[in-house]
Amino acid sequence: MGGPATHALAVAGPRITAVGQLPELTERFPRSEVVDLGEAVIVPGFNDAHIHLAMTTDDLLHVDLAASRVTVVTEAQLRIGDEAARTPAGQWIQGTHYDDSKMMDGRVLNRWELDEATSEHPVHVMHVAGHWGVVNSAALVLAGINEESEDPPGGAFGRDASGNLNGIVYERALAKVGSVIPPHDPEDRLRALAQAVETFHAAGLTSIGEAYAEPADVELFREGIERDLLTLRLNVLVGHDHYDAVRASRAFEGGDPLRLRFDGVKAFVDGAIGGRTCLLTQPFEGTTDDYGIQTTSTADLAAIVRQAHENGDRVGIHANGDQAIAILLDQLEAAQRALPRSNLRHRIEHCTIVNDELLQRIQRVGAISVPFGSYVHYYGEKLLEWYGPQRVGRMFAHRSFLERGIPVLGSSDYPCGPYQPLLALQSCVTRRGYDGVAVGENQRITPYEALSLYTVAPAEASGEGHLKGRLLPGYLADFVVLGDDPLTVPPDQIGSIPVLATYVGGRRIWPDRGVLSALGGSGSM
Ligand SMILES: [Zn+2]
Repeated sequence: MGGPATHALAVAGPRITAVGQLPELTERFPRSEVVDLGEAVIVPGFNDAHIHLAMTTDDLLHVDLAASRVTVVTEAQLRIGDEAARTPAGQWIQGTHYDDSKMMDGRVLNRWELDEATSEHPVHVMHVAGHWGVVNSAALVLAGINEESEDPPGGAFGRDASGNLNGIVYERALAKVGSVIPPHDPEDRLRALAQAVETFHAAGLTSIGEAYAEPADVELFREGIERDLLTLRLNVLVGHDHYDAVRASRAFEGGDPLRLRFDGVKAFVDGAIGGRTCLLTQPFEGTTDDYGIQTTSTADLAAIVRQAHENGDRVGIHANGDQAIAILLDQLEAAQRALPRSNLRHRIEHCTIVNDELLQRIQRVGAISVPFGSYVHYYGEKLLEWYGPQRVGRMFAHRSFLERGIPVLGSSDYPCGPYQPLLALQSCVTRRGYDGVAVGENQRITPYEALSLYTVAPAEASGEGHLKGRLLPGYLADFVVLGDDPLTVPPDQIGSIPVLATYVGGRRIWPDRGVLSALGGSGSM
């Protein structure tokens, strides 16, 4: 990156062999096939450091209740009722992408409304941010949750004004529901995986960080690679509950590490930004006592960090609120003090709300920040309503991280936020919501910096900076062909730039598959 504009790439097998002007390259490689891309722009393949492919796969097998489809409770009931009519009685019905903040009737779905949609099936509807859900009465019975049930540690059962269960299940309490829902058929999952992969390629993604995998997901990924359905390159964070099992089974060994790698251990300190459950030092705007939820005890967190650190493995720990980040930093600092490992850079997933002191500590302990790239666009004015105008200037603090020299990676956290990297670039550059509202404009970054978040930075963080993120000889031929240049179009139009084609390892993988040997066109990196 940073060199003069590249006009042509020579590609042999999975790697770039040369970059330069087209006449020069055709002379050097006279027998190559030339692909003329006209005025199109080539950039390195996008790399989203924190996204949920396994969850996206399962969501494709569930009822879509996204705000683009459902705007009032009755529409959600209709969609669930339709699915119930097609589903044998007693089988689970799962809804996904539900976002109460975008509902026009301004209230949250409850168990009785789900009972109206079907009383013959257990129903679970997951909130878009993934930190709470709503279930119907049949699901409460199957999960063994009743009016006498006590809240589990790090979770809660929602109740109405008279103290009755309203069907909302928060944070760790979700596990009580999840444990009684049977897994999907592996062939159904493979079909959905292929669909999810194609959707991501269509947005220009060539590499991703899978932000939470269990052993069954790793198995799914291996099978997907085997059948050539999974053509994204994956770095995987494994859920801490499954860390021992994955180590014992050597699930990541024996394959191609350029396609599937273990990246670290995933755990959580607190709740969500969009779900309003993150752990804060100052209460949520408009409340005096709501500081959010700590979802893992400090003692458990300490044990998780210590074990991974001692093994020389990275942790990638979800910490959104400023209080959650402080609690996590205590543990990262303790681990580095007890056993200094300067090459082991742990990740703070989301790392949303910071301040000067936290930034200093993050820098000193050598941690990597992985903030949301598209939340400003996705939530807009709601962020001001929930967090206030002062605090939003310290949220998704891309500018502050860059100024401090803290590694900062691009991430969508899809399905929690939009997955399109170009939309994230626009969001980071403009700091404007879908509604046009400005959110913490002091954190704006340049288009070039925003592009780096989704190319060079994640490659360097995963130790693949010599292979990915740049268009240079010896690098993997992973790149995207765009209809316009994200570095020069007006910033509010970056998200609308068409993705024309996506290549992985020299192979055109989207819109249809083909092999490439040489390519002409204009590149900007
Ligand atoms: Zn996530």
